[in-house]
Amino acid sequence: MNRRNFIKITAGMTAAGITGCSTVPPSPVTGKKRVVVIGGGAGGATAAKYIRKNDPSIEVTLIEQNKHYYTCFMSNEVLGGWRNVDSIKFSYEGLEKYGVKVVHNRATGIDPDKKKVTTQSGKTFHYDRLIVSPGIDFKWETIEGYNESVAEKIPHAWNSGSQTALLRKQLEAMKDGGRVIITVPRRPFRCHPGPYGRASIIADYLKQYKPKSKVIILEASEKFAQQKLFIQAWKKLYGYGTDHSIIEWLPFSEGGEVIRVDAKKKALYTEPFEDQHVGDVLNVIPQQKAGKIAFIGDLVDETGWCPINQRTFESERHTDIHIIGDAAIASPMARAANAANSQAKVCAFAIVKALKGEEMVPPFLINACYSMIGKEYGISVAAVYHLEGDKIKWIRGAGGISPMDGSPELRKREVLYAHSWFKNLTNDIFG
Ligand SMILES: Cc1cc2nc3c(=O)[nH]c(=O)nc-3n(C[C@H](O)[C@H](O)[C@H](O)COP(=O)(O)OP(=O)(O)OC[C@H]3O[C@@H](n4cnc5c(N)ncnc54)[C@H](O)[C@@H]3O)c2cc1C
Repeated sequence: MNRRNFIKITAGMTAAGITGCSTVPPSPVTGKKRVVVIGGGAGGATAAKYIRKNDPSIEVTLIEQNKHYYTCFMSNEVLGGWRNVDSIKFSYEGLEKYGVKVVHNRATGIDPDKKKVTTQSGKTFHYDRLIVSPGIDFKWETIEGYNESVAEKIPHAWNSGSQTALLRKQLEAMKDGGRVIITVPRRPFRCHPGPYGRASIIADYLKQYKPKSKVIILEASEKFAQQKLFIQAWKKLYGYGTDHSIIEWLPFSEGGEVIRVDAKKKALYTEPFEDQHVGDVLNVIPQQKAGKIAFIGDLVDETGWCPINQRTFESERHTDIHIIGDAAIASPMARAANAANSQAKVCAFAIVKALKGEEMVPPFLINACYSMIGKEYGISVAAVYHLEGDKIKWIRGAGGISPMDGSPELRKREVLYAHSWFKNLTNDIFG
């Protein structure tokens, strides 16, 4: 969505709800209003750019701990050898041309009263409004024997970058006849269809290069996202349900929830029967919660995620702080890059309005998720949302899911759409 469309969609709608009036004096140096953004991922980088696009008089500082961002979206294709890791790597140079000041450092403190952020290097950044988009952190304590350092050998690859490259290397090094085990945690987690897209793309690689091998999915629940579509495709492409299936899926009731890892033995132990599963390549995805800085800033509730006003994305716990992306409670929206990007634009617009003392209009939001199951077999789900009262609601009939009776041509076209979606989205975030 460009600025013109953004304004066209939001203009003309009934204005209701929150008025955000800033009472903080402008920057003593420049006389300008200041917005600080923590986290330069799908949510944060978009928000930083769109605040500047909407109102170039606002000073925007983006604090991001890494020099480059590796997208999780399309990272499964790296695992299958369909693309290389450089194709999912993005820099922040594009944002600088919009006048966003990018600071590469880790935010280590938020003081909501003094309205300032501190970084690991000891610098302080004052804000009129703060946006926090730190993505996810892991509940390491939920799997015995698994922690940050074990994850350097047994990757989760649920944040992209070095772990994605490591998992790919392990798959390449695995012998034919090997067992790849992917563990899926309890919900909610980032990108609900992600594990099954991952299993599919790995199965495609194994089918071609190591046909005696298997992917086993250990699932902490009884069902999963777009299950019927995935299973239909697995039957077609990977012999699912037969003795020669490349993919096996075990739900919780069949011993699918991992509770312990023995890294030396490469063994996983599961509930409810204490079964042991030994694999050659293990991909353990732990339970998740909001990124650490959201906890430091007192922005999370007892769920481990951040409650927000769903019109403006302002925190329910602290004024003038907004949370977007995976860390926010924006249900029924999924934890997805497209959703984070859409929320970021709404949040940017709400902040621009608030800093002018204007009311935020009820927003529209969107999301689309593609899963590749084979090189010529894609499926998708898309949704449009609006506000009903104070809550984000899905607009019936405005989205859709790939049909069960889709033609081979349609499945092939969805792969093309997915790649073009990726190009457009990353250009919108970083370009
Ligand atoms: C395998 C996989 C496949 C996926 N596929 C899709 C897909 O097809 N479509 C889709 O829409 N979504 C997909 N997703 C989900 C998507 O990647 C996330 O929902 C999205 O990245 C969330 O954006 P975010 O801004 O909340 O967090 P992130 O994109 O993770 O960004 C967070 C940023 O904050 C930075 N950060 C964190 N803490 C600090 C700090 N204290 N100081 C400074 N910087 C900090 C991090 O370095 C990071 O750059 C997928 C996810 C996975 C794991």
